[in-house]
Amino acid sequence: MYKLLNYINGKLVEPVSKTFLDNYNPANGKVYSLIPDSDEKDVELAYQAAKGAFAEWSITPKEKRSKYLLKIAELIEKNLDKLALAESIDNGKPVKLAKTVDIPRAAANFHFYGTGILHYSSHAHAMENTAINYTLRQPVGVAGCISPWNLPLYLFTWKIAPALAAGCTVVAKPSEVTPMTAHLLSEICIEAGLPPGVLNIVHGLGGKVGNAIVSHKNIPLISFTGGTTTGAHIASIAAPMFKKLSLELGGKNPNIIFADCDYEKMLITTMLSSFANQGQICLCGSRIYVERSIYEKFKADFVSKTKKLIVGDPLNEETKIGAIVSKSHQEKILSYIELAKKEGGTILCGGQEIKLEGELSKGYYIAPTIIEGLNHTCRTNQEEIFGPVVTITPFDTEEQALEMANSTRYGLASIVWTENLTRAHRIANNIHAGIVWINCWLLRDLRTPFGGVKDSGVGREGGFEAFDFFTEPKNVCIKL
Ligand code: NDP
Repeated sequence: MYKLLNYINGKLVEPVSKTFLDNYNPANGKVYSLIPDSDEKDVELAYQAAKGAFAEWSITPKEKRSKYLLKIAELIEKNLDKLALAESIDNGKPVKLAKTVDIPRAAANFHFYGTGILHYSSHAHAMENTAINYTLRQPVGVAGCISPWNLPLYLFTWKIAPALAAGCTVVAKPSEVTPMTAHLLSEICIEAGLPPGVLNIVHGLGGKVGNAIVSHKNIPLISFTGGTTTGAHIASIAAPMFKKLSLELGGKNPNIIFADCDYEKMLITTMLSSFANQGQICLCGSRIYVERSIYEKFKADFVSKTKKLIVGDPLNEETKIGAIVSKSHQEKILSYIELAKKEGGTILCGGQEIKLEGELSKGYYIAPTIIEGLNHTCRTNQEEIFGPVVTITPFDTEEQALEMANSTRYGLASIVWTENLTRAHRIANNIHAGIVWINCWLLRDLRTPFGGVKDSGVGREGGFEAFDFFTEPKNVCIKL
C-alpha cells in the first residue's frame, strides 16, 4: 500500500510513532493509501526545522524567494494531470473540476504571491522637518497553516504561498481526509530546490497534529480554514497566547434572485453555485430566495435541470457530480435531509443516497437535492450542511429577502441576481457578508481581501492583506 510521508527539513520522513492511518477513496469506499498518524513530536521536529530555516529565509532577498515560488507554480502546472487525478481520487470531486479549477488555482496562488511580493511596500510619513516616521514590515516567524478537505491543494497553497513570499517559514497541516496533493506538493518543493525547513508538512489528525501546531508556544501565527466549531476551539487556545489569527470558517450563503434578472444566466450559474463540488464549497449558495412572480417558473426549471445532473464516477471526464468526501460526511448530509422533512420541508428532487454499480457500489454518493416549504429560521436554513442540498423560498419584497438573507449566524458570501443597478448596490451595502457577487459567482481578483463576517471568520486573506498578516509592522520614528 502506498505510504504518504511527512515533509520535514527538506526530507520525506515517516512519523516518529511509525504509525499510519487509512486513506479512503470516497468513490469506492476503499482504503488506497496510508498517511502518517503524526503527533506533537513530529510537529516539534517540523517547528525546529522551520525555526532553523527562518534566520536565512527571512533575509533572503524577495527576488530570490519569488523565484522559488514561481518555480513551484511552474511545476504544479507541469504536473497538472497527475495532481488533478490525485485530488479526484482523494476527494471524490470530478476530475475535470480538479483539472480546470483546483489545480490551476493552486499554481496561480504561488504565481500571484511570488510576483506580488516584489511590489509590496510599507509606508513612510514625513513630519516636515521634525522627524520621519516609517513602518518596517518584518516576517512574523514560523507560521502555522491548517486547511480543510474541500479544495485541498487550492486552500493549502492559498496560505502557504503568501507566508513563504513574506519571509515566514511554515509548519502546515492539510486535512487528514485529503492529504495526497499536499504530499505531492512536498515532492514538487524538493524538485524546486526549496531550502530545507522553509516549508514543513505534517500529516495526521486535527486533534493531534492541528492541536499541537495551534498550542505550540513558539508558533506565533495561525492561519486556519475550516469549520466554525473548530475555529472557535482554535481561537480559545490561540487567543490567550496572543497569537496572530486568521480564521476562514463556515458559511450558509444566500442566493437572492429578483424577477428582473437575466434569467438564463442566473439559471446556469445557480446550478453551479448550488451543486459544484457536490455543494462542498464554502461559497456555495445553499439558501435560494426567489421573487414570487418568477418562483414557480424557477422551481420547474431548476428542478428539471437538477434531475438531469448525473451522479457518477469522479474519474469520468463527463461527470458533473462526484462522491461526497467521506462516509461520515455523507451520513451528516443525509441526516440534514431527514431533519428538513421533519421541519416540514418538501423534497422536490433528490433526497437520497445513490448507489452506483460495480467497483463504485461502496462509494459515498448523494443525489442533488432541492427542498421547499421551510421557514427561513428553521435549522435546515440556519446550519451549514455543506453538501448537494439547497432550499428554495419565495419572497415578496426586497426588505423581506434581505431579512431572510441576514438571518443566520454566518456571513461569508452572498449572490444577488438583478438588472436593477441601484438595487444591486443597495443590497451590497446592506447584506451581512464578506463577499457579494452580483450577477455572477466565484469570480474574484486575487488582489481583493477575502473572508467572512459574523461566525464565518475573522481576519482577511488575499491580496496584499495576506502580506500584512504574515508580517509584523514596526513603527520607527527618527528625529531629524
Ligand atoms: P474542520 O474544521 O473539521 O477541519 C479543518 C482543518 O482543521 C483540518 O485540517 C482538520 O484536520 C483540522 N482540525 C480539526 N480539529 C482541529 C483542532 N482541534 N486543532 C487544530 N486543527 C484541527 O473542517 P473541514 O475539513 O470539515 O472543512 C469544512 C469546513 O471548512 C466547512 O465548514 C467550510 O465552510 C469551511 N471552509 C471555509 C472556507 C472559507 O474560506 N471560509 C473555505 C473552505 C472551507 P482533520 O481533517 O485531520 O480533522
